[in-house]
Amino acid sequence: MPGTSSKNGTLFIVATPIGNLEDMTQRAVRILGEVDRIVAEDTRHSAVLLKHFGIATRTVAMHEHNERAVTPRILQQLQKGEHIALISDAGTPLVSDPGFRLVRAAREAGIPVTPIPGVSAAIAALSVSGLPPDRFVFEGFLPARKPARRKRLAELAAEQRTIIIYESSHRISACLTDMCEVLGGERQAVVARELTKRFETIRLAGLAELTAWVASDPEQRKGEFVILVHGREPAARDALPDEARTMLEVLLEDLSLTQAARIAAKLTGASRNALYKLGQELQESRKA
Ligand code: SAM
Repeated sequence: MPGTSSKNGTLFIVATPIGNLEDMTQRAVRILGEVDRIVAEDTRHSAVLLKHFGIATRTVAMHEHNERAVTPRILQQLQKGEHIALISDAGTPLVSDPGFRLVRAAREAGIPVTPIPGVSAAIAALSVSGLPPDRFVFEGFLPARKPARRKRLAELAAEQRTIIIYESSHRISACLTDMCEVLGGERQAVVARELTKRFETIRLAGLAELTAWVASDPEQRKGEFVILVHGREPAARDALPDEARTMLEVLLEDLSLTQAARIAAKLTGASRNALYKLGQELQESRKA
């Protein structure tokens, strides 16, 4: 195979479209046609894509439940000189998709691993979000259960980089509601739905507005979502008057964060959200 020079075969990590088949790259079509085997997350799902591009290469399934079991066999095939491509149901494999174990094992065995890059929903959404793109953090899916999700969001509250989150239609409303409550309704965010597809919708607004919009329109709860959240403004901390900060620090010695932020906000007129966020930072730094 061109571009490979080892007695081992090469493992190609091949990105596929996230909805629009025109986003398939020419190189991806060629590599998938040339390799000995395609490892796919769901072979029936991928059969549609492969048929569309006239690719007849045999496929083998590797998903989160059998990755551990099938990895040694795929490694052996690579070591015998087979060239193998890994694809997922959509987008870039390993990005909230299976494949990490295989890539890691291949690297440890000295097998060449080559990217065939293409679409990923996270980067596509970031590029059109209108949120600062220069520094960002990818969170993947937040925990499915509400208490764990809120805890994770509280940990993210002080993050200053743009936060990228994947979400499904089942949880979009619940997730936005939690974000609104934990991060504050004024925090700027973007809901990017059904990217590259017929009903693509991208909206930038405060979390309160986005939450109300998604809750009021069932159409906006259909499909696949990327949520992007503006990082915390570094100025937010400084915007608090000294008096409010000092009061919060004193109150935090005896009260919960919620109580301390509420009372300090009442007595000083400062933003409860800003006090709450500052309180989180203080607690984090005390723990550290
Ligand atoms: N590997 C994929 C990638 O590179 O983007 C992601 C796979 S992950 C299992 C699926 C999640 O990606 C969806 O739940 C959604 O959050 C996001 N996603 C995938 N396709 C999307 C699309 N067309 N529009 C918006 N989000 C999408």
